[in-house]
Amino acid sequence: MSAPRGWSTTTCGQCGELRPCHRKILEQRVCQRCMLRFRRTAKPCPGCGQLKVLAFYDPQRRPACAGCTGHEPVYACPSCGREDSPFGRHCGPCTLRQQLTELLTDPTGDIHPKLQPVFDALMAGPRPQTTLYWLTRASARPDILRDMARGELEISHAAFAALPATRSVDYVRDLLAALGVLPPYQLAVERIVPWLRELLTDLPKPHAEVIDRFARWQLLRRLRLLGERDRVTRGGVQHARAAVLGAARFLRWLDEHNATLATATQAQLDDYLVSHPGRGRSLKVFLDWTQRSGVGSDLHVPGAERPLPQVTLSDQRRWQQVERLLHDDDIRLYVRIGGLFMLLFAQPLARICRMRADQITTEPDGAVTVTFDAAPIQLPDPLDRLVLDQLARRGQASYASRPDRWLFPGGLPGKHLVTENIRSQLVALGIRPSAARKAAMFDLAARMPVPILAELLGLSTNTATRWAALAARDWSQYAAMRRA
Ligand SMILES: [Zn+2]
Ligand SMILES: [Zn+2]
Ligand SMILES: [Zn+2]
Repeated sequence: MSAPRGWSTTTCGQCGELRPCHRKILEQRVCQRCMLRFRRTAKPCPGCGQLKVLAFYDPQRRPACAGCTGHEPVYACPSCGREDSPFGRHCGPCTLRQQLTELLTDPTGDIHPKLQPVFDALMAGPRPQTTLYWLTRASARPDILRDMARGELEISHAAFAALPATRSVDYVRDLLAALGVLPPYQLAVERIVPWLRELLTDLPKPHAEVIDRFARWQLLRRLRLLGERDRVTRGGVQHARAAVLGAARFLRWLDEHNATLATATQAQLDDYLVSHPGRGRSLKVFLDWTQRSGVGSDLHVPGAERPLPQVTLSDQRRWQQVERLLHDDDIRLYVRIGGLFMLLFAQPLARICRMRADQITTEPDGAVTVTFDAAPIQLPDPLDRLVLDQLARRGQASYASRPDRWLFPGGLPGKHLVTENIRSQLVALGIRPSAARKAAMFDLAARMPVPILAELLGLSTNTATRWAALAARDWSQYAAMRRA
């Protein structure tokens, strides 16, 4: 390799070491390493006001850019001329543009039209270097995008379903769904499909057929509808799986007792439920469906009387927890707010996690309100300030999930925080979400008429009534005690 022009070993003007120095910065010879470091420190030039590498003196002996001092623009990107985002021989944006173009080009030589939103979103990220780093990691699976652009892999959920289910694959899939390239989907719901396929292969054919229909037309259909409104919970997915297993077990039991869905009697079902306690709930969905769809006879799982809710958290303990979340700066901000929404307004964590930023409003007089359901509630000080802080901090989420609408953005692009994240941190603080929420509900129910409670908290009137009944019962007992 021939030495570059101006090559000479001398003492570097920046680090003081004896090295080959072939460029001058502020009239001092510097080594390659110091030059590379210096070129990442663009500042506003006193001559032109632009962000430039100030490696030269102007006539007033101020550090200034090459253009303003009549020097070769050695720090400028050869494509676009900018000096403030160096990356390799070009700048970050030009390198990213070139690499994304290469990645997303279809066989005609243009960016695949369906993948144009991916190009636009990744180009718009605040730090091209971060995206460039992602593109260099094979384990991050950018090759999926290339194969899709070239037509070697279909741009569909089915294509993703056939790939190994890793975090990286899910990330690319989530990215495409968040950008509208793929329709919205719920990972937990779609994972039921391969699980179901496997389970059905082990069942007798007639059983497999009826359960397949039940799963597709009842369970998955309902979950996907909920998914479109982003209302799928982990419990809902587990319940669907339990319903499939419950149906399979019941059909096997019927086989063993020489019966079928069409011939089974209510007495047989009662026998089954007595000899298998706890199976009624998961079986009920299946039997309701077989009845509606005409597959089975008229079988009825007796519904258990819904007991009144239990409250196990004392009021004093609850206010201690509120106090701590309001004032302890060592707890993560979103955990404090999530916990407070639960302890003060009885909101379930799953619903808190999918709150949108536009549910928070600042009124002209400075009051901050939150709308959980229909009516806004004014936030007390200092909770209002915590919430405004959270709104301001959201912008620091990872690049791909930036332009989104969630109050608590999650780690995945376009997704909100997962419930488990807040839940585990609250439990670590000694706050048990279900007890905390029930205590809040109890307190509110004692203070508010049912319709207002239902409207403020987004409860069904039935639920609000059950809580009001509990609060009233305790209140009347308390009143009776006082009179005695
Ligand atoms: Zn040096
Ligand atoms: Zn300048
Ligand atoms: Zn450039």
